[in-house]
Amino acid sequence: MLLRRLAICISLMFIYSSSALYSQTNNDAASTITKNELMKTDRYLASKELGGRLPGSIGYTKAVNFISGELKRIDLKSANGKNYFQKLKVEYNEILAPEHFAVIQNDKRINHTIGKDYVYRGFTGAGKLTAPVVFCGYGLAQPDKGYDDYAGIDVKGKVVMVFKYNPKWNIDGKVFTNGNPREKAIVAAKHGAIGILFTSFPNDAEPQSPIGSVINGEGEQMINFSEIHIDLPVADELIDGSSYTLKNLQTIIDSTKKPLSVSLTNQVDLEVHTKYEKEKEVVNVVGILEGSDPVLKNEYLIIGAHLDHVGSQAGKIYFPGANDNASGSAALLQIARAFSKSNPRPKRSLAFVFFASEEQGLYGAKFFANNLPFPKEKVKAMINMDCIGYGDSIQVGGGKSAPELWNIAKEIDDKNDKLLVAATGNGGGADADPFFEKGIKTLYFVTTNSYKHLHMLSDKPETLNQNLFEAITKLAYRTAAAICNQ
Ligand SMILES: [Zn+2]
Repeated sequence: MLLRRLAICISLMFIYSSSALYSQTNNDAASTITKNELMKTDRYLASKELGGRLPGSIGYTKAVNFISGELKRIDLKSANGKNYFQKLKVEYNEILAPEHFAVIQNDKRINHTIGKDYVYRGFTGAGKLTAPVVFCGYGLAQPDKGYDDYAGIDVKGKVVMVFKYNPKWNIDGKVFTNGNPREKAIVAAKHGAIGILFTSFPNDAEPQSPIGSVINGEGEQMINFSEIHIDLPVADELIDGSSYTLKNLQTIIDSTKKPLSVSLTNQVDLEVHTKYEKEKEVVNVVGILEGSDPVLKNEYLIIGAHLDHVGSQAGKIYFPGANDNASGSAALLQIARAFSKSNPRPKRSLAFVFFASEEQGLYGAKFFANNLPFPKEKVKAMINMDCIGYGDSIQVGGGKSAPELWNIAKEIDDKNDKLLVAATGNGGGADADPFFEKGIKTLYFVTTNSYKHLHMLSDKPETLNQNLFEAITKLAYRTAAAICNQ
């Protein structure tokens, strides 16, 4: 019986899909999605006033108030019957002035510029020190895995300099742990170090510049232990005077798979202050648009984007995050506005969710997925939008796990902008992960080649590809409309 009904449903879907996909969205509120509206929101979210939208900061609260105000204006329902906020708690760290960072070579002092030559890790502790530096390879002390960068070298009272990431190799198939910054910092501190400098891999084809990041990993916060990502030329200034460069240190370590730690003669002179809170209340912003069909309205499409970014440092720099993810948030707001104007309304209900704390580890999305305001069985699918304003074409992830949903996007794109690339993948990815892990089908909208300015000061609204931004937002809207009316 159930099977037969399903078969009928499927055949009906095929008959009506190509013509109906269109008529369903034909009252096309998509025309209200314009690059001007998108950019207006994006510019505000990426503005200095919002300071990089670090959850727990005043800037993030302003973003939350703006979005919730707009949801109220278009009369979305709340999920909790009170307001648009879903509260959760996260670790929070503020990086404060005064701060400076300099290299001292004998009598020569080289002052460096924050945001260019170095960036603090989001969970840096405070520090005020002048100390010699020791290069400690990958910063790993795992003798049980046959490798210890700290063996036979004294780092007491010194600052260590290590590669930010773990090696791309292992020894006898034994995988290294503690690849994240906090764990490397804790290992350094246990050996007596008083601060840590991270460098990118100099031998990468395009070495990563210092970036803003609040991903830190598990463990206690060391409130008096500074963690700084320095640029490669700064690392070489510190190494200067030894018989190495950072490049050949990496080459030797990687080719021998043996530690090569070096005490350096040069020093760092630094000062930074911080204010840390183990638990700070932050919010996801959630708005519901009820479906028009008396039965199908009990089913939901979740459409989400993370509202947060990686904040500001010492009042000197802030990370605008115009692409990451002011773009997805602006698109989500505009899609909600379009749906609120659509007539007739979609048959299924929609939950618009602006996630907190993606940058710190998907905390907002995990919390929402674990505390859904409706039964999980009633969730038709989840659409995520993250970094959709920079690049040259459109990619929709999730096509391998949910080809029937991906094909809807493909069909719509074929009739419109023809910007969708064939490459797709399994479901999940960033904020889509917690939903996919619960068995919910997901689509992940992203622009291709999206990450040139990722977590850099240069991720600004003026870099965005506005036509592409509009096209991908319309595609996401129409795909969502088709899924809701299917
Ligand atoms: Zn990001």
